Amino acid sequence: MMPEPITFDNSYYRLPGSFYSNQNPTPVSSPSVIAVNQPLAKEIGIDQAFLCSDEGLKMLSGNTIVEGSQPIATVYAGYQFGHWNPQLGDGRAILLGEIINNTGKRFDLQLKGSGPTLYSRGGDGRAPLGPVLREYLVSEAMHNLGIPTTRGLAAVFTGDHVQRESPEPGAILTRVASSHIRFGTFQYFAAKGDIEALTILADHVISRHYPEALESANPYVELLNEVMKKIARLVSKWQALGFIHGVMNTDNMLVCGETVDYGPCAFMDEFNPGKVFSSIDSAGRYGYQNQPGIAQWNLMTFAQALLPLLADSEEQAVKQAQIVLEKFPEVYAGQYDSLMARKIGLSPENPAASGLIASLLELLDNQKLDYTLSFRSLMETLREEKQLYNDDPAWMAWNQQWLKQFNGSTERANALSAMGNINPVCIPRNHILEEVISQTRQAGDLSSFNELLQALQDPYNPKWMNTIYAKGPDQDQLVLQTFCGT
Ligand code: AMP
Ligand code: MG
Repeated sequence: MMPEPITFDNSYYRLPGSFYSNQNPTPVSSPSVIAVNQPLAKEIGIDQAFLCSDEGLKMLSGNTIVEGSQPIATVYAGYQFGHWNPQLGDGRAILLGEIINNTGKRFDLQLKGSGPTLYSRGGDGRAPLGPVLREYLVSEAMHNLGIPTTRGLAAVFTGDHVQRESPEPGAILTRVASSHIRFGTFQYFAAKGDIEALTILADHVISRHYPEALESANPYVELLNEVMKKIARLVSKWQALGFIHGVMNTDNMLVCGETVDYGPCAFMDEFNPGKVFSSIDSAGRYGYQNQPGIAQWNLMTFAQALLPLLADSEEQAVKQAQIVLEKFPEVYAGQYDSLMARKIGLSPENPAASGLIASLLELLDNQKLDYTLSFRSLMETLREEKQLYNDDPAWMAWNQQWLKQFNGSTERANALSAMGNINPVCIPRNHILEEVISQTRQAGDLSSFNELLQALQDPYNPKWMNTIYAKGPDQDQLVLQTFCGT
């Protein structure tokens, strides 16, 4: 059977020319496959046989433009570390087009690392192998941990080197997202005072992501409300998992509510509310405990961009925006509290849950305990009905209080099973990622990459329990800093 070609339907391309520039990828010398994401290909309705064919590889490396693809680089702006930047854009990414799967869901297909664009500003538009592997692995982990995220459909070696501090092997990631439309896309047009473009963009986003908003009395206010809820829920999930995004600039916030930009992100090992990994975040703006507040700040700047659409008078528009934004803390906390209660096997309705969570986090912080592993240890405690692993009196007292919440063996068994579904055994830890990247880079050997990928695709499975994937770093393995993926 001949592989089935991709059918594109490029709705963003049909928007005005001011939304993007036409830009073909720049060919590379000798591409080869690192990974093709079979489950994702299936989900979005792309023939896997095509992706694995010569034609498929040519597409994934930017060496040919397949029929129906209309490659563009999109323009946006953004607040970066709080500072306004009026003009950014896809500087190393090219949108090949959009596809619709058999359930009617639309996806962007984007190459990342495929050469310079109008928005590259001196950069080479390329990506080194390390950040491509990192994004592929971490986004796949996020997906399997139940976090809305952009995903890697494929990763390929280019066969060329990219010059960074030293020459690095080049790679290209094919990224799939519900869309890549950012808070910063709205902010770009709002800042130019181009209300017509702003309206077109808002209408596009409503029909693409939030069609229910059309039934509301004021669809643009409803759009803001829907985005607010999506982002509040997204960040609550990051917090519950100990995920630190690291670069929550408004150009990295998608209006569809999926996680994007896996540059300096990291999962915490030891619990530390102030934890920061990113080498460029010297002020700790995007540290763990700041993420919900930053999300709300970002939403405020998004609302500001929407103001001209929200009401006839500015005063009315501001009022409408405020009503929506004020709901953020409640939506966020509702979701976060419920996730955390479930992480310790309690019903979110249990009145003791929030106090137990607060004191548990304080203990983890004071005793520098591993965030992910501690919840799995609690499962052991519950299974044995006694504290096994830590004889600190404060920890034992906490455990006693917690164990009192369960009446009888059925309740304990139910709690255990629920905890097993929400507390991962393995997360993509920095030290493991670094090791896998360095092995792949040095030897071109993909075996450690593929092994880790397998674990991350099934992160709640107890079978990983005694493997390296379920261990925190030893002192000499500790990774203190992460870097932007350029
Ligand atoms: P990011 O850190 O991915 O959010 O990137 C911030 C901005 O820098 C975006 O507009 C990128 O397109 C641009 N950029 C990042 N890396 C490169 C690169 N290698 N070449 C050109 N532009 C880049
Ligand atoms: Mg970015």
